[in-house]
Amino acid sequence: MPRRNFSFPKDFLWGTATSAYQIEGGVKLGNRQDSIWDTFCRYPGNILNGENGDIACGHYQRWEDDIILMSKLGIKAYRFSIAWTRIIPEETGAINSEGLNFYDRLIDTLLKYGIEPIITLYHWDLPERLQKQGGWASRGVIEPFLHYALTCFSHFSDRVKIWITHNEPWVIAMLGYRWGIHAPGVKDVQHSLQAAHHLLLSHGMVVEAMRAHSPNFLGKIGIALNLSPVYPIDPSKEADQLAAKQYGWMLNDFFLDALFLGAYPKEILAKYPELNQIIQAEDMKRICVPLDFLGINYYTRTLVKGFEKEGQLESEVVALPNAHSTMWEFYPQGLSEIIEWVWERYHPREIMITENGTALDDELSAIQEVLDDRRIEYFQAHLQELHKLIDRSIPISGYFAWSLLDNFEWSFGYQKRFGLVYVDFPTLKRIPKKSATWFGSVSKNNAIAIN
Ligand code: BGC
Repeated sequence: MPRRNFSFPKDFLWGTATSAYQIEGGVKLGNRQDSIWDTFCRYPGNILNGENGDIACGHYQRWEDDIILMSKLGIKAYRFSIAWTRIIPEETGAINSEGLNFYDRLIDTLLKYGIEPIITLYHWDLPERLQKQGGWASRGVIEPFLHYALTCFSHFSDRVKIWITHNEPWVIAMLGYRWGIHAPGVKDVQHSLQAAHHLLLSHGMVVEAMRAHSPNFLGKIGIALNLSPVYPIDPSKEADQLAAKQYGWMLNDFFLDALFLGAYPKEILAKYPELNQIIQAEDMKRICVPLDFLGINYYTRTLVKGFEKEGQLESEVVALPNAHSTMWEFYPQGLSEIIEWVWERYHPREIMITENGTALDDELSAIQEVLDDRRIEYFQAHLQELHKLIDRSIPISGYFAWSLLDNFEWSFGYQKRFGLVYVDFPTLKRIPKKSATWFGSVSKNNAIAIN
């Protein structure tokens, strides 16, 4: 069959995404102070092989080369996060000019190379000093977050037009405050509900504050949620069916209902009546401030099994073995399923795929190549799904591959490689994989070619 070209809309944003703690390193440089990830990594057993982000990809020193590399590949946009601990390192709330300077240089150089910068304000690296006061479980975190976020917005919004408040509040609340497998390592249902609510509330309040600060700002402000269609592992079992619904209400509906409908799902309020004590007057109204776009991070679908614990039905995620990834099942149609559902139910003004990608056992060949064809297949299949949705006039305006570089993959340390660019960690040398060149040409052509 001849190859066919599927073009994307004019001005479609093709980008790569990263986050500060996963790539920067330089944790003691530029007056930076500890975040919860620095401290979490110090506890034996928290991270595979006891690894940490002290050096990571050394991007704090190599940022310029990384930008030049993106530009050579043909990448048009770059989503990165700002380290709160570089901007406001101290308890006093004083602004650290070295922190601002680092991101000034990064942004100015991106623009010089014609790459659109996109800022994520919070990608999980809360200052440790704030965790000592309860972190996201405490309402007191919102004021310092507003101070940090507005400092960034007033400083960078003359050049940065696309802003993301939080990355994946579900992951923060559940993995960080309920299951304790991410920083800050808390295992407490009540704390996780408080964290989820305060993250959402801080989002609403910061959007309001940004708009009040610059009424003429012509850019876009959104949030990035990790969304996934949830299925019972055995549809013939009622417990699995119910468990899947229950899991989905927390993963998807909880955040979307709050952001778009101004209320938490009744099923969640019934399961956790204590939520009512956390919510104060006006909170829900503030959370559902209109968004310019919804960021969706999608990797795979979620399969769930039900089981009983202390007389209650609980949900457990089941991982299917698969040939396509060292992490998750290859399920590209899930991207369409979740977007169609979001579109019908919430009608966001605009959607961007703020993360999508796969981890593989990439190996460097004797001639310094990484032939990651399965990653290309992964991207290709997901982009085909997107193309169909765009054809149906769903307003999807951008796609960000996770990730630019192999990096510190949280509790998996450096064992999971998601990058378009291979990083040889002992030397920090960057070697673009086959997928990097492929993705660059998709970006340059604004089209995918299908056999
Ligand atoms: C996060 C990234 C992470 C990626 C792969 C997302 O949940 O935003 O920081 O590296 O998934 O696990």
